Amino acid sequence: MKKSKAIISFCICAIMILTSFSVLGYMDDIKENNEDNKIVYLTFDDGPTENTLEILKILEEEDVKATFFVIGELANTNKEILKKVEESGNSICVHTNTHKNENYRSKEIYFKDYDAAYSKLKELLEKEPCNFMRMPGGSSTGVPSKVVLKSIRDELNNRKINYVDWNVSIEDAMGINIPVERLLCNYRKEMSKKNLDKERIVILMHDGASNSTTPKALPSIIKDLKKNGYKFKTIQDIDENEFINLTEKKLINRYNEEKEIN
Ligand SMILES: [Zn+2]
Repeated sequence: MKKSKAIISFCICAIMILTSFSVLGYMDDIKENNEDNKIVYLTFDDGPTENTLEILKILEEEDVKATFFVIGELANTNKEILKKVEESGNSICVHTNTHKNENYRSKEIYFKDYDAAYSKLKELLEKEPCNFMRMPGGSSTGVPSKVVLKSIRDELNNRKINYVDWNVSIEDAMGINIPVERLLCNYRKEMSKKNLDKERIVILMHDGASNSTTPKALPSIIKDLKKNGYKFKTIQDIDENEFINLTEKKLINRYNEEKEIN
């Protein structure tokens, strides 16, 4: 009798210990997931220029990384700046070679420009550029006809080139050197959009020649994101799960499923 009591107590004890371990493990999982919950991708289009250097300084001071979607022709002119972006450990991806609206006249013209930018970056970086890119104006740009736009997105999909959109814009390309306060106001307005999925934020900003106020607005933006618990990643940092996540949230390859539907 005594022996069976001891066995029962031992079993209860063992179950309690195992349960508490699994609860603790579960808590760790929750904690880990929560910590992973909010990720921000800072993205800059239209560089490299002198403004890129200002941005690099701020990123270093704040100890965060960003993704630069660069213009091939500018990268060729500002080789030293491109080198500094590379040395700083931030991501460099293709935006366009010339950033001309005419590139959207046809799929063939578009890819002539894209391929030129890709080759130029490959030559300057002495390695294959990343397979993420940003279409000028984004993947739903109104510049080309819908037919041409769809053919471009389909071709990107065929070539397994991932296009990156955004869900927050500070609208710094809506004019020349827009006042810092306006940029911060745009940021706050965008971040408080009702339909914004705050788990993942991709912010569109610019480091072109007419964006000298963007680096001045950047420290406040980064500090606000940090205060709100965001982790900073570059688009090249992502693993397979995050790739799926960003696709589902329509931040990358937003229209690729069109093909399956049709
Ligand atoms: Zn652009």
